[in-house]
Amino acid sequence: MAGPIVNSGPGGPAVIGPAPLLRAEAITKTFGATLALDALDLDIAEGEFFALLGGSGSGKSTLLRIIAGFEAPESGRLLLDGADIATTPPWARPVNMMFQSYALFPHLTVADNVAYGLRRAGVTKAEAAARIAAALAMVGLTGLDRRKPHQLSGGQKQRVALARSLVMRPRLLLLDEPLGALDAGLRERTGFELRALQRQTGAAFVMVTHDQEEALALADRVAVLEAGRIAQLGAPRDIYERPASRFVARFLGAANVLEGSAAAGGFDSAEAGVTFAGAIPPGTVAVALRPERIRVAPGAAGPNTARGVVEDAAFRGDDTLLLVRLPGGAVLRVAHAEEDGAPPARGAEVTLAWEAADVVPLAS
Ligand code: ADP
Ligand code: MG
Repeated sequence: MAGPIVNSGPGGPAVIGPAPLLRAEAITKTFGATLALDALDLDIAEGEFFALLGGSGSGKSTLLRIIAGFEAPESGRLLLDGADIATTPPWARPVNMMFQSYALFPHLTVADNVAYGLRRAGVTKAEAAARIAAALAMVGLTGLDRRKPHQLSGGQKQRVALARSLVMRPRLLLLDEPLGALDAGLRERTGFELRALQRQTGAAFVMVTHDQEEALALADRVAVLEAGRIAQLGAPRDIYERPASRFVARFLGAANVLEGSAAAGGFDSAEAGVTFAGAIPPGTVAVALRPERIRVAPGAAGPNTARGVVEDAAFRGDDTLLLVRLPGGAVLRVAHAEEDGAPPARGAEVTLAWEAADVVPLAS
């Protein structure tokens, strides 16, 4: 009987249950001199929407291919319901993968593309027909079953690939950059649809993306991948508000990362020329401060305030982004909300203020 599951990585929650759907244990994979996955640990729970977020080359696709069984790790274990699946071939795993490029067969119709896996699995013709129709209906492609891929839009091709995966009724669906090839308008709508499909099917979805907004918007939990390791894992709001490292803070667009060192009652940053007051643990090497947490506060003084000069300002619709040069030389990004009135002009000297609770200590 498996013990409780603890996810690795700073900020990771803790226990997700007695037996996860999938557990990856110390998975390592190299390609020549490249360490693609570095003793990575990860649990995926039954029926969750999980996002693997990372830059190009961080190991996202390699991890998906290993989970699907297209690639074998050099070391580490992969457990499904607690049982090792090292020797289980891809087609015998209750796992399906939707590829980044969709990988549709150009000479086959939509229906035959969707039928492909069913045929291999030995499903009868009658049952296959019913399942194909249901899968096409689920992705909104009813009536297009006789078309060939070249007669479809990009969004429709993506849906065929999705239907081809869903028709297999996997317990775990792996999606490699499923929205990456869609244009911006379609991406948002398709994201909502993906989530609805995930709820409807009850399968666990593991989505790979390099887009932090997409990961935060869609997933129940997000793992930020950095060079084949999990830099941080948690609920979207947790990793957004409490990044644990400079890498995660910058990757999630926290933007203001100020170097310095912990001091009595706070954090001294020479590059900011500012002392941040708050509960700063020893060993803190930098602090993060989100642009929307900083306000222009004429007359404010004391800790967690700073004077600076507005070097530039950019109107963004619901706010204006100010670039404010601090006494130590660092430039702070400040989001000045429309409801706070007219933003200060370029060249203006301003006093800024923020709350101690918004100063996020970073340990590495
Ligand atoms: P991501 O999907 O996050 O962009 P990948 O998992 O594709 O990253 O790749 C991780 C690293 O492994 C990269 O440095 C990549 O160049 C390397 N890599 C991946 N697949 C191969 C391969 N088949 N041969 C050689 N190097 C590879
Ligand atoms: Mg990739």
